[in-house]
Amino acid sequence: MGPKRAEVLAQELGIRSYYDLLYHFPFRYIDRSKIHKIADLRRLGENGGDMPYLQLKGQFAAFATHGEGARRRLNALFYDGTGSIDVVWFNKVKIIQESLHTGVEYIIFGKPTPYNSRYSMTHPEVDAYKPGMESQGLTGVYNITDKMRNRSFTSRTIKQLVQNLLATLRHVDDPLPPDIIAQYRFLPLHDALAAIHLPPTVQMLQRAQFRLKYDELFFLQLNLLRYSKSRSIKLGGLRFAHVGEHFNNFYHHVLPFPLTGAQKRVIKEIRADMGSGRQMNRLLQGDVGSGKTLVALMTMLLAIDNGYQACIMAPTEILAQQHYETISSLASKVGIKVALLTGSTSKKERETIHAGLLNGEIGITVGTHALIEDNVVFARLGMAVIDEQHRFGVEQRSKLWHKNTVPPHVLVMTATPIPRTLAMTVYGDLDVSVIDELPPGRKPVQTVLRYDNHRQQVYRFIYSQLKEGRQAYIVYPLIQESEKLDLRNLEEGYDIIRETFPDYRVCFIHGKMKPSEKEHQMQLFVEGKAQIMVATTVIEVGVNVPNATVMLIENAERFGLSQLHQLRGRVGRGADRSYCILMSHMKIAGTTRHRLEVMTQTTDGFVIAEEDMRLRGPGDMEGTQQSGIAFNLHIADIAKDGQIIQAARDDAMRIIDDDPTLTKPQNMKLARQLQFLYSRNQDWSRIS
Ligand code: ADP
Ligand code: MG
Repeated sequence: MGPKRAEVLAQELGIRSYYDLLYHFPFRYIDRSKIHKIADLRRLGENGGDMPYLQLKGQFAAFATHGEGARRRLNALFYDGTGSIDVVWFNKVKIIQESLHTGVEYIIFGKPTPYNSRYSMTHPEVDAYKPGMESQGLTGVYNITDKMRNRSFTSRTIKQLVQNLLATLRHVDDPLPPDIIAQYRFLPLHDALAAIHLPPTVQMLQRAQFRLKYDELFFLQLNLLRYSKSRSIKLGGLRFAHVGEHFNNFYHHVLPFPLTGAQKRVIKEIRADMGSGRQMNRLLQGDVGSGKTLVALMTMLLAIDNGYQACIMAPTEILAQQHYETISSLASKVGIKVALLTGSTSKKERETIHAGLLNGEIGITVGTHALIEDNVVFARLGMAVIDEQHRFGVEQRSKLWHKNTVPPHVLVMTATPIPRTLAMTVYGDLDVSVIDELPPGRKPVQTVLRYDNHRQQVYRFIYSQLKEGRQAYIVYPLIQESEKLDLRNLEEGYDIIRETFPDYRVCFIHGKMKPSEKEHQMQLFVEGKAQIMVATTVIEVGVNVPNATVMLIENAERFGLSQLHQLRGRVGRGADRSYCILMSHMKIAGTTRHRLEVMTQTTDGFVIAEEDMRLRGPGDMEGTQQSGIAFNLHIADIAKDGQIIQAARDDAMRIIDDDPTLTKPQNMKLARQLQFLYSRNQDWSRIS
């Protein structure tokens, strides 16, 4: 290929090497194994949906040009003995007309579109018919940009290039260990690459896809695991060997209820991890209300029993405040001093706290981002908990690491369940614990979808709940782009609610308020002085008011599934039956409607997360944006290839456990491949 065209390929598709070209896979395939009859087109079209691309075999008749200059077009009739269609060209009219002839058999390939009760095909691929052409099998279709099209690059051009390349490359070095290739009966890499571009059969295509997906996921896992392993070897970790009086006292005398089985199991996992002598980096997933705070507290008690301090960081002031209340009332009973450190802590208080941290007097610190500021220095920080971790960036998390010479154990908690396969990919170097059981006696929140025309009924229902002494949340969306408009909606909503419920006090809270005002409004609701809270999603995270039994979500169609799930989690926290009402003011359809229906059908956060991933794709999942890891996958699909991810991870783990630095002779190829694949990428080793 000449340098000019090579430049286009590099600029438009980033293809600069043989490797790039080989790994630029078709994005879909067309079946050219069959020749259709024109008489059958109508029946094909009746199946609904789009007409497929297909092949016809026949002859041209009656070429005719119309129009002038740029408007010039060429029409032809194409017939095959069962009927005829119209074929149209708008470009290169002259060249095409000269190259095509009547009385000669052609195969044309394209997408028929119905037009005036006939079919027509625009710019089909045309080949003079040669025997055997009927079964060209599957043909890959490659992405082409407009700019490439203007330089007369087509999908076919790419196919031709790959074909030439594959024919000259006699051997592609296979980086996978032979035992893995044998175990899965993989196609050799060369054959897999050939089959993904030029599949002879559907079966071969599938085998090629399997192999190449595995490759991609295997090296991704190998890379993640290698980093976490080398990190834990390099940095070591604190060994929390014993369970002491704080933990035991708490467990036997303070704990207000028996732990659920899942809580016990998770605490055991954490204990084993912290006792192993390497630094713990653990993700704790548990649905809203599953009791993660208690697990965090008991984990922190273990740190204190081993002579260290602990801290827990929350994303909002309100949440930090609530944690502080829960944790200080429980921890004080076993004689531990707890401090609260946030942006609104007064200067004087802060100085006292800083001193208490430095001399080790304060055992547990609850806080917001204020915790990771440089002037916060601990005597011996041994354990850091991060609540609602998806709200924090990577750098913020890594700052906690540096609060002690030997990095503290880290437990990150999330109530936004991430499907296992996604967690393995995004947080591949974290160990994962799951609380998959709610404390006993919880009744699932009853969820309904209502349209605007039912508004009065909905209000009457809320009224009946308030009359019984319950409280209600009413939530409005607030989305960045139209912030002003949203705020007006919110304020209007607030006015309407006050008019509708004149006997009750309504509080009002949104993200743009001053923290002190937010705090004040929140407190009104927590103490039961206000019965209705009109709010934006600032209440999404963590707030705990067991007496609230109604969650009304306005414009529910504007929220993502996991956000809806989080909001719903604010109710159903007490003994009373709770309700979530999703309001939508328009007749919604398609995936939007489906999304809301999912909410009415299940309260299982993991089911919702899987569905969310299916609907939005893994790149858009909440919890992944800030992970710092781009989804640079060519062929594997995190939503669909769960089993392959698991297998690839297990295999990678086995290799890394045996040879953490990949220096054994049999692993040299793997090390080289990783170097090749990831040398340009960022250093992931600091992501916790
Ligand atoms: P989340 O996992 O959403 O952070 P919390 O830790 O806030 O959940 O717990 C929700 C509620 O459940 C709290 O009021 C807490 O006291 C209560 N809780 C936690 N564990 C148990 C348990 N084992 N039995 C009964 N209630 C529990
Ligand atoms: Mg919580």
